[in-house]
Amino acid sequence: MNILHIASEVTPWSQTGGLAEVAAALPVAQRRAGDEVLVLSPFYRVVRDRARERGAALRDVGPTLTMELGTSHIPARLTTIDEPDAEGIVFLDIPGFYDRDGLYTDEHFHSHADNAKRFTALAKAAGPAARALWGTPADVMHAHDWQAGLAPLFECEALHRATTVFTIHNLAYQGVFPKHVMYELGLDWSAFNPDELEWFDQVSFLKGGIAFADAVTTVSESYAREITTPLAGCGLDGFLSHNARRLTGIANGIDTTAWDPRTDANIAARFDGDDLTGKRACRAAIADEFGVEVAADELLCCIVSRFTWQKGLDLVVALAPELAALGIRVLVLGTGERDLEQRFRELSADPLCPIHARVAFDAKLARRMFAGCDATIMPSRFEPCGLNQLYAMRYGTVPIVHAVGGLRDTVIDPGDAGLAQGGGTGFCFEVADVEGLRWALGRAVELFADRNGWTRLQRAAMARDVSWSRSAARYREVYRSAMAGW
Ligand code: ADP
Repeated sequence: MNILHIASEVTPWSQTGGLAEVAAALPVAQRRAGDEVLVLSPFYRVVRDRARERGAALRDVGPTLTMELGTSHIPARLTTIDEPDAEGIVFLDIPGFYDRDGLYTDEHFHSHADNAKRFTALAKAAGPAARALWGTPADVMHAHDWQAGLAPLFECEALHRATTVFTIHNLAYQGVFPKHVMYELGLDWSAFNPDELEWFDQVSFLKGGIAFADAVTTVSESYAREITTPLAGCGLDGFLSHNARRLTGIANGIDTTAWDPRTDANIAARFDGDDLTGKRACRAAIADEFGVEVAADELLCCIVSRFTWQKGLDLVVALAPELAALGIRVLVLGTGERDLEQRFRELSADPLCPIHARVAFDAKLARRMFAGCDATIMPSRFEPCGLNQLYAMRYGTVPIVHAVGGLRDTVIDPGDAGLAQGGGTGFCFEVADVEGLRWALGRAVELFADRNGWTRLQRAAMARDVSWSRSAARYREVYRSAMAGW
């Protein structure tokens, strides 16, 4: 089938979070299964710069489109990059919208004032792009997150139309705008009602995606349940419960070819579950890179994360004074909220504190950290799916996680005895507070002292199928059911 994904970010060209990796890896799995797959994504300044850095040629495809937004008529080009990493990605080039710094925000983390227009253009271009490139509508138009939320609405207006699927990667970001954007965007006021676009007298793009798509998915089974409750529903729990029949949870996978400790050229030494010698070399290398001495019996943990309240990193900060006594050292890589960045910088500067942070976004360093560390810590307050626990497991790095959303679904914790026998893949704690995290870290340290038990746990984590194949097959089932009208 012909599948068009609409994603506001795609690795390695543009990325702020996990969506970018899904937009890159799911199409690869779908192509492997024989589908024709394109991804439509904005041609941001950073995309152009990365193409230049790589010396890759740009090529226009299809005709120039004219995007009608209210009374504006905006020309838009479809551009591709001649590079294997850009296979099947069609970039929407509207310089006035995308040729600027920051995907969604400026350097002060303020949303760009014209985001409603920028992403309506993306959603509106999807149908015409598919028709221009394939000569017919897509069989499935798969829109991701609020930025693509209006695509199902626009597709509904077409006579001969694609089946539409909308995926929620994080309900906390809803794309809510004042209602006057209805005029600016030229949207039909009949859709401004509480069952469709309206959210407390404003316009919600995410709600539009849920309302107009033929099928709705989110990125884990647990998160699909959680978002129908007030605790995680971000004000949309009632609406989602009402639409629960059309809502399916499908956990993300990872690209296990690109993330393979047997072949990864970015890490100090290669290794696999049978022979973990290389992982020891990676451990020494990452300690060196951070300029720290790590004893053999110290549990070396990593955190690779956006710095936001969601990720629960304040719990790690709160435990900082106890880590040394527990026998734990933590390497941190991340960017985000200024006060967390500042706090991690301060902790790194304290010679007595075993937390060492790099405030940066660095995909290659992230790999070296997953390869070299013993464990990774994810105390997220909520986590739709989470990718880091999957990368970590693939590299024999044991996840220590709050049992929520996708973390609950992908990290198996049968208790200490079960873990030591290789019957699970990591440590879970039920309540995201300091006590919960301290308890889980204590359990990890204890098992780390039992080298054979720890190795069995590492091997079990590495053996878990974290590839896309199972999840891609589940998406296909959702597509088929939606095409058949359920
Ligand atoms: P979210 O989408 O909520 O940010 P995920 O775990 O689903 O969280 O995905 C985040 C992705 O971005 C992961 O692959 C993670 O490794 C990567 N990432 C986040 N911050 C950084 C960083 N500072 N440097 C490198 N990679 C990062």
